[in-house]
Amino acid sequence: MSTCAPSPPNAETPYRGRFAPSPTGPLHFGSLVTALAGFLQARSHVGRWLLRIDDIDPPREQPGAADAIRTVLARCHLEWDEEVTFQRHSLEDHRAACEKLMHAGLAYRCTCSRKLIGARAYPGTCREAKHLAQGRHSVRVRVGADRVSLEDPVQGRQTWNLEQEGGDFVIWRVEDLPAYHLAAVVDDAAAGITEIVRGADLLDSAPRQRHLQTLLDLPRPAYLHLPVAVDAAGQKLSKQKLAPAISESSAAEALVAALNWLGQTPPTVLQRAPPAAIIEWAIAHWDPRAIPRQRQWPAPHLGS
Ligand code: GLU
Ligand code: ZN
Repeated sequence: MSTCAPSPPNAETPYRGRFAPSPTGPLHFGSLVTALAGFLQARSHVGRWLLRIDDIDPPREQPGAADAIRTVLARCHLEWDEEVTFQRHSLEDHRAACEKLMHAGLAYRCTCSRKLIGARAYPGTCREAKHLAQGRHSVRVRVGADRVSLEDPVQGRQTWNLEQEGGDFVIWRVEDLPAYHLAAVVDDAAAGITEIVRGADLLDSAPRQRHLQTLLDLPRPAYLHLPVAVDAAGQKLSKQKLAPAISESSAAEALVAALNWLGQTPPTVLQRAPPAAIIEWAIAHWDPRAIPRQRQWPAPHLGS
């Protein structure tokens, strides 16, 4: 099937990338490397780099986190282009995409509880049930038995069988909010994103998002999944687990560490340079081929 290759680039589609943090806490090393790599990809393609706040999961959000993220990005001289966007502002577009899939018979209401489904792939129980809109339900999109393959410059060629790996997946949640995959593809398309740079913890999201792009007839961005920064115990650094935030005084050190972590080789004199100079060096020397071809990679120990 031809659903896999990204939309062909041409002179009229300049590079557009984005950083899409969830506002669950301030930026830590793990999210800094994602922001930095995405920013450098965009700058080296003379493209644009956008900031989108993925605020469609209210219980996980932390007041002030969106502002804290912007503060750290500015501190690190990771300057985004255009106005910041917020996913909650496009809820109606997410809803319209969900309805389009339902009207086409490609998505359906599901009343199964997570407990009932357990760890196995969703067996399609509600496919033909025609549940009414009134009751408590989620909406699932149908997947087929076709394999979905993607070429990732860091992770290599990846192939999935969505039917066996999870089955029909949720695009609208019981809480009456869009699920991440649906919101992400709708907003990526609206912003004209041509390449998505993010952590390999989201690698398995790529075939689901590609599937939705195909069904919704949206342009297909390329994907680049970075290794996930892990602590000494092999655990992903996360805002929830309180990985240290990047402070004013630690920005330069964190940037140099992030460049090293991404396989770049900043000269040691940069250690004492201001963030602007570090970013200038990084734009001129960025080589994505040097990124470690790993699913996870240990984060350095940062002082302070
Ligand atoms: N908002 C998601 C997160 O912070 C990332 C979404 C994406 O890059 O597709 O994990
Ligand atoms: Zn069901």
